[in-house]
Amino acid sequence: MIKKSPVMRKCISCRTTFDRNDLLKITNDHKLGIMLNQGMGRSAYICKSKKCYTDSKLKKKLQKALKSGLNPDFFDIFEREIANYK
Ligand SMILES: [Zn+2]
Repeated sequence: MIKKSPVMRKCISCRTTFDRNDLLKITNDHKLGIMLNQGMGRSAYICKSKKCYTDSKLKKKLQKALKSGLNPDFFDIFEREIANYK
C-alpha cells in the first residue's frame, strides 16, 4: 500500500504549515480574478484559525501574496465563507 502524503501549504498569516485541505485557498485566477477555493493561478492560503482569518493585516498580506489588488466583492465572499467557521 502506498500512503499518499498530504500537500502542505503555509498560512500567510501565522506562517504555520498545514495540510492543504485544512486551509482556505485564495487564487488570483488568470481569467476570473480573485477566487476562493477555486481557480488556477497564484495562490495564497489562510488557516481556519480565528486569529488568522480575522487578522487586521490580512488584506495587505493577501494583496502582497497574490501580487494583485483585491476587489471589495471578494471580502464579502470571504466573510460569508469564514462565517461558517465561527
Ligand atoms: Zn494561520
